[in-house]
Parts: sequence; C-alpha cells; structure tokens
Amino acid sequence: MSLIQFTEKGMYVPFANVYIDPFVSVDKAIVTHAHGDHIKRGCSSYLSHIQSIPILNRRLGKNKYEGVQYGIPVHINGVKFSFHPAGHILGSSQIRVEYKGEVWVASGDYKMEDDEVHTPFESIKCNTFITESTFGLPEFDWLPQQSIFEEINQWWHTNAEAGICSIIFAYSLGKAQRIIQHLNHANGPVFAHGSIENMNDAYKEAGIILKPTQKPSNYINKKDFRKALIIAPPSADTSIWLKKFEPYITAKASGWIGNLNSNQGSITDTGFALSDHADWKGLNKAVKDSQAQKVIVTHGYTSEFAQWLNQNGIEAEAVKTQFDGNVI
Ligand SMILES: [Zn+2]
Repeated sequence: MSLIQFTEKGMYVPFANVYIDPFVSVDKAIVTHAHGDHIKRGCSSYLSHIQSIPILNRRLGKNKYEGVQYGIPVHINGVKFSFHPAGHILGSSQIRVEYKGEVWVASGDYKMEDDEVHTPFESIKCNTFITESTFGLPEFDWLPQQSIFEEINQWWHTNAEAGICSIIFAYSLGKAQRIIQHLNHANGPVFAHGSIENMNDAYKEAGIILKPTQKPSNYINKKDFRKALIIAPPSADTSIWLKKFEPYITAKASGWIGNLNSNQGSITDTGFALSDHADWKGLNKAVKDSQAQKVIVTHGYTSEFAQWLNQNGIEAEAVKTQFDGNVI
C-alpha cells in the first residue's frame, strides 16, 4: 500500500487515516499552507505549522487547530509526520511522512529563493517526492528578487516624481507582504487594501515585523496619494475603488508576466515577473536535492515536467488533482 494515496478527497495517508490538503471536509486535515486551494472549510481538526494558524483563524473561522514548529515530529497511529519550510508564504510547509523506514515528502507549493520574509525552503531527502509544477517549463526563469525589487522601486520613484499614484496588484497572502518588506519606503507612503491589511495582521500575530502600511480609507484628499504606492489584490483591478487614486498607473506582480502562452490576461500598464513558486531551475533543483527515487507531479505543467524527469533518468508520474494554484 502506498504511504500517500491520491484520492478524490485529496492526498490520503491510509496508515494514519489523515488527509494532506484535502479537497473536501474530512475528519483530520494536515495543511501545507493557508492559500485557498489548500484549505477546506468544515474539517473536524487541522494540523499545520504554528504560523499558519493566525491565517486559518481569519479564513476559516473558529475550529480545532493544532500548530507545530518546523522539524518537530507528530506521531499518528505509528506514522511520523513533520513540517519543513517550503519558502512559499507564512507557515508554508513540506510534509515529511515516515512509516517503517519509508519516507515521502509532500511539498505543497514552494519556492527556492530566500525572500527574506518567510523561512527559506529546506531540502528533505526522501524516497518519494510530491512536487508542484506551476511553472514547470524552461521558459520560466526568474531573475533574482533583488533586481525585480530595484525595478519596482524605480518605477514607483519615477511615478511619484511625476505626481502619479502607483498601484501594484499582488496576491493578498504572501506576495503582498514580500513586496511591502522590499519597497523603498523613502519614496512615499504605502497604502494597502483591506484584504491585505487583514493578512498583514495575521503576519504580525505570527511574530513577523512588517514595514508600515496605511489604510487608504483614512484619507479623503486625493493629493495624499500622489507619491503613494497602493498594494491591492488582483481582484481590485477593475473596481471603482481605484477611482480615489486618480491619476494613477498600474502594475501586476506575477510569475505569468512575460509568458505569451498564458491566458492570465492583464489590463495593467506594466508587470513584474515576481513569483512565490519555484521556476524551472528551482523545480529541478528541488527534485535533485530530495534524492527521491520516485517523483509525483501534482499541479501546473504536470505531464511536461514528469516527461522531462523520465527522460533524464528520474522516475516520475503526473497525477491530476484539484489544486488550481494561487499563482498571481
Ligand atoms: Zn500557495
């Protein structure tokens, strides 16, 4: 029997009778991270990294949560589970599962670059490695984040000098906080949309010290926004909420920027290729460093990445799952 099985309800560990990131409500859920496609409302209990709990509280409400630190084993019916940093968002974890000497790692979503906000990815050796492949094509090749943030800060500076408000769209959990920390706050004030402020509060509750942001609702004079940078979720890009910032210019921070085959069309003025997922080189490094004899690819360019691995002597299989990825 496989240590982890792929079922309609999600990744199932039969010997422990628990699911990892289930797609439906189950008795006991182990959560890799708190992005919406990895958490399901209505489970009887949730086991996650301790820093995920302030987010789970805000997203799922009151439930039975148990939080653990990285590397601390939790035994369920003789199966040993432990959480290890995935470098993706606050609390994001790879789940190591060990039973009778066999080790599997379910990586959840991950990235290899240390973003200096979240605990960086840690490679875990295993027999079977379950990986995402959101950006599993060679054309996805990220620049170091330092050069991307230099571009963002220069773009903001130029706009501020011209008296035009800068609005940047970024996913409210993980990406937004990463941007806030790397902005040059000397350029002007930084305002965050309410949904991002809500996640900022979760970060603060988890002990992360974020650079200061303000709520735009506290301001009534449009002049206040002339030198400002506004961080908003992608869903706000057509909202009338934007009118208060006129004149403004917009940008999107996403791994899909520059990918011509992407259907993630954008109406923003510019874009920055900043992702919280591993690029092609990162995925390959993660697989190699795991030293796994078998790789299972769960979402994104699954068949392409699995085929590449098989051609390069690593046994791999693509598995269809319901993860859709929060990949802005
Ligand atoms: Zn995610």
